This record gives sequence, C-alpha cells and structure tokens, in this order.
Amino acid sequence: MRNNRISSVTLLKATILSLWLTMKNLFRRPVTVQYPATRRPIPERWRGGTFALTTDKETGEENCIGCKLCERICPSNVITVEMEKHSGRGWAKSFILDLQACIQCELCVQVCPTDAIVMVYGMETPVTRREDLILNKEKLMANEKLYPAAWARGLKLQQLHEPERGTEEKRGVVGK
Ligand code: SF4
Ligand code: SF4
Repeated sequence: MRNNRISSVTLLKATILSLWLTMKNLFRRPVTVQYPATRRPIPERWRGGTFALTTDKETGEENCIGCKLCERICPSNVITVEMEKHSGRGWAKSFILDLQACIQCELCVQVCPTDAIVMVYGMETPVTRREDLILNKEKLMANEKLYPAAWARGLKLQQLHEPERGTEEKRGVVGK
C-alpha cells in the first residue's frame, strides 16, 4: 500500500516536471534555421569537404611539384601522385584523391611544401555519384576556382607546429 503511494507521488512529480519542461520550451525561440533559405555562418577556421590544387597567383603555374609527400603521409592511402620533371622542376603528371575513404585529417595539407593542396572553406560540396568522389587533377584544379581555399596552408601549419625558439629561460626549461 505504502509502495503504491510512493509510486503515485513519483509519477505525479514526473508528470508535472515534464509538463513544465514542455511549457517552457513552447515559448522559447526556435534554434533551427530554415536551410537553405537561411544559412548559418561558417566558422572562420573551418576547412573540409573537398580539396583543391592551387596555382601560383602571379605566374599561373601549378604549385604541385609532384613530391608525393601527401601520398606517403595519407593514413587512408587515398592519394596517388605520378611525378614528371621538366622545365627545371617537378610536376604532378597525374593526381588522384579518392574522397570515399578520406578521413579529413588534413595531414596531406600539413606536409605539402608548396601550399599546393588545400582544403576548401565551404560545407556544400555534395555529389550524387560515387565516381564524383574520385578527384583527379583536373577536378582538383577546377575546385580552386569553385571554392574559396581555407586559411590553413601547408607552410602556415608547419610554422605553427615549429617549437618556440629562444633561450632556455624563455622556454621555461631552466629550473625544472
Ligand atoms: S585529409 Fe587525411 S585521409 Fe584525407 S586525403 Fe588528406 S591525408 Fe588522406
Ligand atoms: S600536393 Fe604538395 S605534397 Fe602532394 S605531391 Fe604536390 S607538392 Fe607534393
């Protein structure tokens, strides 16, 4: 009998709490937006979705020297670069990046010595066919014109990862 009374009180409390929560949320401003009519701003440091191969803004030359560093570091083995040499430098004869197994780790961007491969600043890069996820050199170069590049470039990221130089006192080594 006592147990029945306790469970009735608990049930009543839970019901009142649920009703109160419902009423509270009924008058709250909605947090959802009517996409695509309304779009939330993308965070400044966002990068992802797809990739682009860049060209030198002044000369128009391809920045990729075909060094294969991105291919070697890619943990998913989704990059294949074929190198050729002419005009005193290396070039990517072909470049394949298979987005199907890309984990968006950005390692390929981080190791690039010429800022040639970049992630883009945009979320809306959908495709409807599997083959569209296999990016060849032409698609990657076209992406440079289609999407703005993200702020993170290889040389900038490498600079950020460099240990702070200076005296031992400055680095806080002395006295430890
Ligand atoms: S982001 Fe990572 S997984 Fe994707 S291509 Fe680059 S290195 Fe490979
Ligand atoms: S994208 Fe960068 S790391 Fe990859 S092959 Fe070209 S120059 Fe080398």
